[in-house]
Amino acid sequence: MRVWCVGLSLPASLLSTTTRSKFTNTSFSFKPKPRRRFRLYLSTTRPFIFISQFANHPNSDNNNYSNYWNFGEGNGAVAAAAEASSNDDEEFVVVNFYHFVGIKDPQREVAKHLSFFKGRDIRGRLYLNEQGINAQYSGPSKDALAYVEWLKEDERFSDILVQISPALNGHAFPKLKLRYKPSLVQLKGGISHLPLFDPSMRATPLTPSEWRKRMEAANECDEVSNSNLNTNYVLLDVRNGYEWDIGHFHQAQRPNVDCFRSTAFGLPEGQVIASDPLANVDKEKADILMYCTGGIRCDVYSTILRQRGFQNLYTLKGGVSHYLENEGPVEWGGNLFVFDSRLSLPPSAYKLETVIEASRAQQVPTNNKFARCYICGSQVCVLRHRNCANIDCNLLFLCCTDCVEDLRGCCCVNCTIAPRRRPVLSGHQRYKKWHVYRDLEVQSELMV
Ligand SMILES: [Zn+2]
Ligand SMILES: [Zn+2]
Repeated sequence: MRVWCVGLSLPASLLSTTTRSKFTNTSFSFKPKPRRRFRLYLSTTRPFIFISQFANHPNSDNNNYSNYWNFGEGNGAVAAAAEASSNDDEEFVVVNFYHFVGIKDPQREVAKHLSFFKGRDIRGRLYLNEQGINAQYSGPSKDALAYVEWLKEDERFSDILVQISPALNGHAFPKLKLRYKPSLVQLKGGISHLPLFDPSMRATPLTPSEWRKRMEAANECDEVSNSNLNTNYVLLDVRNGYEWDIGHFHQAQRPNVDCFRSTAFGLPEGQVIASDPLANVDKEKADILMYCTGGIRCDVYSTILRQRGFQNLYTLKGGVSHYLENEGPVEWGGNLFVFDSRLSLPPSAYKLETVIEASRAQQVPTNNKFARCYICGSQVCVLRHRNCANIDCNLLFLCCTDCVEDLRGCCCVNCTIAPRRRPVLSGHQRYKKWHVYRDLEVQSELMV
């Protein structure tokens, strides 16, 4: 069965008091368009915006993939879900994968991929080199998934782990960049010298369920001892601090990193920085449990830690996105930061059923108190960053609604007097290109 999503335009009109009072049962169906049958689910316990399901998920045996969005407006919120039996080939999805594998002639490989993309509507960042491929892109599901299928026919890529999530509003990337890149991820000193193909030099991958057991065991252990005295493991968030700010595994410390390039955990003695969670850790005895969004940063960084003498390294296979898809937000709080125009996804975007299951078992925290406005420190409700309205700053920051208003969408007082400011965006949509606002300004000047 093919299923279609309603989209973000739905909640403003449908999640109203009228809707809440009118429909107190769990679901009902209606037909707003020919060929499409929708079902709205209403819930008094979990807030969400919409549910959608995608057929033909490449990692799934039952070819069924679903999601919904947290509405995040407190108790008694209404959940709206859409379901239809029509074809969703035109629905946009975002696809992420990477694979370390020797590619002898990467330039030729790039040309081959480019020619496959001719006539297909794909946008995103796809990089290839002698060490493999790293891809994040969006497109209508028929084009996006055709590429995955085509790639998997090649035995070098036959076992890639593909992550698919819903695009909110068409493409999540502005254009297609498919090219040779000297480094598949940006890290100080490059990664071409790292033994990425040697599994013994990388961390041991844990499946989502194995990871969950480790998280739960650690939690229990801490509860029993009522402290963090359990020094046998370190939970290492191999992402940036701002990603942690909107969601993380409960026991992970905020990484003091603002760009993966400058990540510096487990430095040798003499160079140790105080904020390093691996400082003074027993390299032979302690288990280091590493996680990142999709797995690539851990796979790369674990080879560095291995070279620095850490013995017991474990990574979350497929990263947080794979975990949320399989286990739901158990031991996880908040949203997942993503590097495309969506900026963040609620756990439910990956798989609806796992969230409902976890929610029933009361394993999902009801609040995300850790998320704070960067300006005033108050709690923020919407776990999504925004860009500074000053185009010449463009800083990604987390901001409460009061501060958005006070600083007119800027990140600081200085930016509020900058010459190239854009209007405040009411929601969390992305800014368009500068000329759109510049032309608006020219027009309004002409009108005066
Ligand atoms: Zn604030
Ligand atoms: Zn700014």
